[in-house]
Amino acid sequence: MSITTAHERVSDFVGSPRRMFVGGQWSDAASGKTFATPDPATGETLAHVAEGDAEDIDRAVRAARAAFDDGPWSRMTASERGRLIWKVGDLILEHADELAQLESMDNGKPYTIARAADVPLAADLFHYMAGWATKIEGNTINISVPTAPGANFHSYTLREPVGVVGQIIPWNFPLLMAAWKLGPALATGNCVILKPAEQTPLSALRLAELIAEAGFPEGVVNVVPGYGETAGARLAAHPGVDKVAFTGSTEVGRLIVQAAAGNLKKVSLELGGKSPNIVFDDADPSAVAGAANAIFFNHGQCCVAGSRLFVHQSRFDEVIEGVSDIAKSIRLGPGMDSETQMGPLVSEEQLTRVTGYLDSGRAEGATTVVGGGRYGDRGYFVEPTVLTDTRNDMKVVREEIFGPVVVAAPFSDLDEIAAQANDTEYGLGAGIWTKDISKAHALAKKIRAGTVWINCYNVFDAALPFGGYKQSGWGREMGHEVLNNYTEVKAVTAQL
Ligand code: ADP
Repeated sequence: MSITTAHERVSDFVGSPRRMFVGGQWSDAASGKTFATPDPATGETLAHVAEGDAEDIDRAVRAARAAFDDGPWSRMTASERGRLIWKVGDLILEHADELAQLESMDNGKPYTIARAADVPLAADLFHYMAGWATKIEGNTINISVPTAPGANFHSYTLREPVGVVGQIIPWNFPLLMAAWKLGPALATGNCVILKPAEQTPLSALRLAELIAEAGFPEGVVNVVPGYGETAGARLAAHPGVDKVAFTGSTEVGRLIVQAAAGNLKKVSLELGGKSPNIVFDDADPSAVAGAANAIFFNHGQCCVAGSRLFVHQSRFDEVIEGVSDIAKSIRLGPGMDSETQMGPLVSEEQLTRVTGYLDSGRAEGATTVVGGGRYGDRGYFVEPTVLTDTRNDMKVVREEIFGPVVVAAPFSDLDEIAAQANDTEYGLGAGIWTKDISKAHALAKKIRAGTVWINCYNVFDAALPFGGYKQSGWGREMGHEVLNNYTEVKAVTAQL
């Protein structure tokens, strides 16, 4: 093992209790309570964090309301706001090593991956969204008004911020999910209360420090760590919040919708998936590594993980053998070990959940080709696993496992595969591997999912919209599509 030494600032950061960021000030929870965030590689406490609950959320909403309704934020020019958002991207890059270490320690993912992917993608998101701040436009509309013959009107639309936005994010990409949420909300002029996941609050709290350093007015961004059932539920239900944006499980997404119904706040949701990844008979050999990456990246803790692998029957044995060989070769270990290729799952709860699925797959008759259980007896590691001989009614095929577990099945023709791929309540992503471009695009059209990758997987860009069909969500993140999530449209008509 060659464990990367933690940056001095990281040791200091985790070495003292972390407070919450409300109204531009760092404070303890109103209750005085803290919770422990564990190191998933060992199960030992990594840091203590202020445990926000309803009272802290109420205070954060008051701060955000004041910043939005009366504060300097709404009076700043779009250009000034854009420059502040750009600065956050710069500061993330300046502190990239440190943020990647925090992410690795708190979430369990390899430091090398956090440094190469999560952190630069988060910075890029802020840089991309900074540019949008000055490009929010309405239209002029030529109206006819049949009920007012002869009258002359001038009509136009204004695109305005929704107001105060509550954002609830998961633990799989803690910093990146904070960026996906904050970037567009701020670019469109909203004020935000962000609640990071209780498993991984640290990078969002460090990000709040960078946001303060960038010079945002107080109350524009508030970060309240705490549990979902208390802080999260209050944020989703709060009458002073105009919109809630949520990323997480479909099950909690439904609770968010119910909580939001009280004041009918706007809701956007990025939820679960059970994404098909389809390898045709003419696929390039790189499809094997592609299929392994599609499921094993981030330990399978991706809402868009390619968790249902379909392989043309003529290549099935070869591809399964190749993916299984890769699974066997993956080095598991603590995220801070530079040789680690896959870290632990994020929590004991996830370990229990994922191994429960492995047991259920076996009990229902699936064959475990490789993996199939917990790895080691310390920390929350699970072996990369390939299951075959599955049926569509098995839980492992229907439900999102959110771990390094792929179910694989053979197929024989194009029509059959489109139906099989769509036989899920989810619709987040899909992968297609073939050298036949017509076939690829024809199938891409048939697939009911928000993202389709052809001869690649897990390619993300701030400019590309991301989100789900069916029960995978409402609305889109990123790209210019996300701006609709965070704006209201006002139609103004004047009689001339
Ligand atoms: P997972 O099941 O993968 O842990 P969740 O959907 O439970 O993901 O969690 C995602 C986010 O939703 C976390 O920030 C969590 O605290 C929050 N959350 C969980 N339950 C609720 C709830 N009832 N209301 C609001 N937020 C919640």
